[in-house]
Amino acid sequence: MSSEHLLEVLNPATEEVVAAVAGASPADVDAAVTHAARAQRIWAALPPADRARLLRRFAATVDEHLEELARLEVREAGHTIGNARWEAGNVRDLLDYAAGGVERLTGRQIPVPGGLDVTILEPLGVVGVIAPWNFPMPIAAWGTAPALAAGNAVLLKPAETTPLTALRLAELALEAGLPEHLFQVLPGHGAITGDALVRHPGVAKIVFTGSTRTGRRVAALGAEQVKPVTLELGGKSPNIVFADADLKAAVDPFSFLDNSGQDCCARTRILVQETVYDEVRERLAETLAAVVVGDPADEKTQMGPLISRQQLDRVRGFVPEDAPALRGSAPEGPGFWFPPTVLTGERPDSAAACEEIFGPVAVLLPFTDEADAIRLANDTPYGLSGSIWTRDVGRALRVSQAVRAGNLSVNSHASVRYWTPFGGYKQSGVGRELGPEALAAFTETKNVFISTEGPAQ
Ligand code: NDP
Repeated sequence: MSSEHLLEVLNPATEEVVAAVAGASPADVDAAVTHAARAQRIWAALPPADRARLLRRFAATVDEHLEELARLEVREAGHTIGNARWEAGNVRDLLDYAAGGVERLTGRQIPVPGGLDVTILEPLGVVGVIAPWNFPMPIAAWGTAPALAAGNAVLLKPAETTPLTALRLAELALEAGLPEHLFQVLPGHGAITGDALVRHPGVAKIVFTGSTRTGRRVAALGAEQVKPVTLELGGKSPNIVFADADLKAAVDPFSFLDNSGQDCCARTRILVQETVYDEVRERLAETLAAVVVGDPADEKTQMGPLISRQQLDRVRGFVPEDAPALRGSAPEGPGFWFPPTVLTGERPDSAAACEEIFGPVAVLLPFTDEADAIRLANDTPYGLSGSIWTRDVGRALRVSQAVRAGNLSVNSHASVRYWTPFGGYKQSGVGRELGPEALAAFTETKNVFISTEGPAQ
């Protein structure tokens, strides 16, 4: 690979350089596509049972290297070690789950007079996966595992700040016996490597996860070639807390602090019924003060640093020092630290209440009744996820039907399970990942009619 551009990987907790990685040039991308196309033909020709077996072996190899991958994630992304172990385990589980689908991915037969009509699912060919830095391993696997299972080759472009776990996963794929060049990692800048991948005519589909701004650009580029693009974009998810809720569970600060708030599903708009607003505020003040922020490699740490100086500056921009807020504490530096923060004086239309901050910052907003809660919850261009807290089943159903978002949870903050579909409404994205839908999204449907009419007499 060319070293036309070099990526310096920093440990966000210390600002020390962890590695320097060569970025892929457009010529590297072109060569990777040629190799991947060849590998894909070999892969797609294998009996499904063999593909499934190799994917399970890949999952087992990831499992054998779980701790190593988790430690690498801690160093390059600053994730707490507990979260990083979960993330590596998620890659293993995704590969296992996708392997289980290989033999069940079948076409169908539709009755048509005068012949046999069959619908066949074919792989797309070479698929490009563009991953962000917030969950480098799982999100890379969300696209890669089902794409491979459906018989495709994958070119993965990790974020420039977090290429190391992706590169290690590609080595583990080879170790597990996957064909050479079937799964390749192309580190590099988005504007160079990502752009070349999206523009390449040999790449049949792009799966993009990241900001809505870049997603728009990728979709527009894809449209020039009528290339399908799956988009998993930003979020500004509501946490709707009615007065009858279990308040302790409902205002768990990790609903927006997990991964230092760098989570597209983070419940960053805490909407609270006005009759319990003061109680919730007090609870949040107590719990924020108790959050342990520090060395992510320490088992006791609950929240690590932000990914980069750029991200730290962005988050600071939303939180003036004199803004009314509840605040926890954070180390001084080096490292990209920001304290857990809940802004209490925001208007629903302020920048902090409307834009995806992607840091450990939420806003606390009161609502009067159910209709007001629904109006506030939907008053955003995003529609990724959200939580609804109430003991009233009827209300839970009404509100979950009325909120325009792809992933809602009632009396829970969980959003993502590898076996259920995930994706956004509105500007949070297009298409679905994970769950039973994921495999079919990496196939083309071909209909073939075979006439049973004999030759004309
Ligand atoms: P981006 O959306 O720009 O980056 C996501 C991925 O896209 C990265 O791999 C990036 O590469 C790549 N990319 C960037 N430009 C292009 C391009 N022109 N063509 C193809 N690929 C490209 O996010 P940022 O890292 O710039 O973060 C900015 C903000 O986006 C954050 O502050 C946050 O608010 C939001 N964000 C949201 C995420 C989500 O899951 N909702 C995830 C990440 C960010 P490279 O790393 O080289 O830039």
